[in-house]
Amino acid sequence: MYKGIAASRGIGIGSICRIIEHDLSFEAKKIDDPEAEKARFHKAIDEFVEETNAMAEDIRNRIGPKEAEILMGHSVMMQDPAMSGEMDKMIDQGQCAEAALTAVCDMFIGMFSKMDDEMMKQRASDIADVKVSVLKKLLGIEDVDISKVAPGTVLVCKDLTPSMTSQIIKENVTGIITEIGGKTSHSAILARALEIPAVLSVSGIVDEVKDKDTAIIDGTEGDVYINPDGEVLSKYMLKREEFIRKQAELDGFIGKETLTADGDKKELFCNIGTPKDAKKAAACDGEGIGLFRSEFLFMDNTRLPSEDEQYEAYKEAVETMEGKTVIIRTLDIGGDKDIPYLGLEKEDNPFLGYRAVRYCLGNPDIYKTQLRAIIRASAFGKVKIMIPLVTTVDEVRKVKELVSEIKKDLDSEGIGYDSDIEVGCMIETASASLIADLLAKEADFFSIGTNDLTQYTMSVDRGNPKVAYLYSSYQPSVLRSIKHIIECGKAAGIPVGMCGEAAADPLMIPLLMSFGLDEYSVNPVLVLTARCIISKWTKQEADALTEKVMSLATEEEIVATLKEAAKE
Ligand code: PEP
Ligand code: MG
Repeated sequence: MYKGIAASRGIGIGSICRIIEHDLSFEAKKIDDPEAEKARFHKAIDEFVEETNAMAEDIRNRIGPKEAEILMGHSVMMQDPAMSGEMDKMIDQGQCAEAALTAVCDMFIGMFSKMDDEMMKQRASDIADVKVSVLKKLLGIEDVDISKVAPGTVLVCKDLTPSMTSQIIKENVTGIITEIGGKTSHSAILARALEIPAVLSVSGIVDEVKDKDTAIIDGTEGDVYINPDGEVLSKYMLKREEFIRKQAELDGFIGKETLTADGDKKELFCNIGTPKDAKKAAACDGEGIGLFRSEFLFMDNTRLPSEDEQYEAYKEAVETMEGKTVIIRTLDIGGDKDIPYLGLEKEDNPFLGYRAVRYCLGNPDIYKTQLRAIIRASAFGKVKIMIPLVTTVDEVRKVKELVSEIKKDLDSEGIGYDSDIEVGCMIETASASLIADLLAKEADFFSIGTNDLTQYTMSVDRGNPKVAYLYSSYQPSVLRSIKHIIECGKAAGIPVGMCGEAAADPLMIPLLMSFGLDEYSVNPVLVLTARCIISKWTKQEADALTEKVMSLATEEEIVATLKEAAKE
């Protein structure tokens, strides 16, 4: 069995068709006629843009507008003067088009792929996809036609790019296996949209299989079997039937309220990274936005975004949600998220350094610009401001002072906004958890960021595979911390939500219900699963399980107990 990243759920069984990559190496030549070289380069870009737009149109018709935007994004990226202008400059200096394209793309890929943020990593792989497509044009290489594969095919390739995915005929492809790509890569997003089971990041798989080998893909667990024996095959045929039945059950939750088994209403919000994601959240039945990671506006740029640019982006998300809550987290940079143009100093311990609200309070001009944009956007719906990485009460007070100043300025300028706009805290540090009672007196709401809370409680770098065995929200210390935060919020009468990954975890949900969590903010694709799990538990059942779990001493025992009690 091979293990990879479970990227698109379901069981796929079929016959393998390998997609072999072309050799894209070239000899970097010095050129004497930059104008002619630029003309060759722009011809390649124009062809790429034309083909990509046509593919996007096809995807829009066959799959949907959200997915088409991925390809449109590629087309826009290649036309962006920041990219093509840089490449033109290099050609003017005597580089050939292939070398200029590669150098500029690799520079951006290097920058984005170093970041721990999945969204930024995705940006890197989008640029890599675009680079390969344009390079093929320059080198005169034709792509394989995936639309011609036979029914029952499992595609195996190094990376499934959006341009390749656009050729997939859903009825013919029963599974996808790739060597690279993560859960949030665009190949994963498109595979999910097409509802084709996919397992990504199975290293070396292309060379390990042959065309026509039989493959089983478990896109829920991330498992791949090649030429399985009869026993494994029948087991997975049954699993496939069970998956289809379960899917039908989830579909029954579309458009429903989020209620526990005893009728208690919970809020089921979504985490998003761009205003366009708000459309996805709305389409997936999200009841609001519990975390809008505003970093993208800053990271996807070569300079600070202006107040108006930010305002337009926030307003777009707010208008999309049509009056439902939109919680905008203020700039959470530093740590692993670098923004080259800000010139942040290298630090020995970036996760413990000058980041998030610490950086923002140290750079009030940048922060006030963002806060003004957010507050102005509150005129169009129910916006809340969320402060990341809070460790002291002072930080919250200072942000609130800035908010008051901005409100006064807006009043004197006659600009509208929601005067009741709430300011809440992300509780994601050990300090914030320990002083949650004090913070609850200052904040209008809490949202627990379990991704960081786990990191800081366990003293374990969330991106370091060597210590990944310790990075678990089921650790007794993390569970105690979550319980304590919710209790402090409740005692002060403020709502408590959770926007870390744990909020969507089926094993964790009964514990969160018992602790009294009001709002669950999850990836849009997990809304129905979370709603289904919440609907299966009564408070009494959740309390009984929680009492047992909170008396256990090890993560292993806790996970075993939760798995035993799980309601599928
Ligand atoms: C968290 O820390 O749980 C969180 C939601 O924020 P991020 O993953 O962006 O750090
Ligand atoms: Mg965080």
